[in-house]
Amino acid sequence: MSEKIKLIGDYLGTIEEFVPCEGTYSDDGKIYASNIGKAVLDQENHIARIEAKMPSEMKVGQVIFGDVMGMRKNTVTVIARKIQGIKGDIDVKTGLYVSNIAKNYVEKPEDFFGIGDIIKAKVLKIEHGLIDITTKEDDFGVVKAFCKRCRYPLEKADDQNRLTCPSCGHRENRKLSKDFGNVETI
Ligand SMILES: [Zn+2]
Repeated sequence: MSEKIKLIGDYLGTIEEFVPCEGTYSDDGKIYASNIGKAVLDQENHIARIEAKMPSEMKVGQVIFGDVMGMRKNTVTVIARKIQGIKGDIDVKTGLYVSNIAKNYVEKPEDFFGIGDIIKAKVLKIEHGLIDITTKEDDFGVVKAFCKRCRYPLEKADDQNRLTCPSCGHRENRKLSKDFGNVETI
């Protein structure tokens, strides 16, 4: 029996090897984690399940803080680290679709976020172990940003949604939360 922490969507095995149980889902003969937690792959009883610690607590409407980990044409991948009002750290993969970034039309997520930025977002939908978040409302967006050129934390310039790097002077745009700069550590 092996036990390892898995993230949502992580591959666990095949349905020939295991019966997909609690905290898992199967797709095309393969078993994946639908929750975050310790993977229990019981070879003897042929059972694959996830012993979830936290994110069953994650609910639609909750406010999360997370790190921007990746950006594709249509989606921003954000690892949720905290749920507002709930103690403890989490480590849950969520997706922010381009249409849920801002009220206005967004062509490229890169114009609104940077890798490593910390964002505040709301849980929009939880389905098949996939968590969709939104930053559309003014309250949500980037709370801490880092210079794309030198990685120094950016500061708010005078005008709206413009940030400036105190270290190298680079100017950048973000979809800012009203809380930008006011969130201590996540
Ligand atoms: Zn810089």
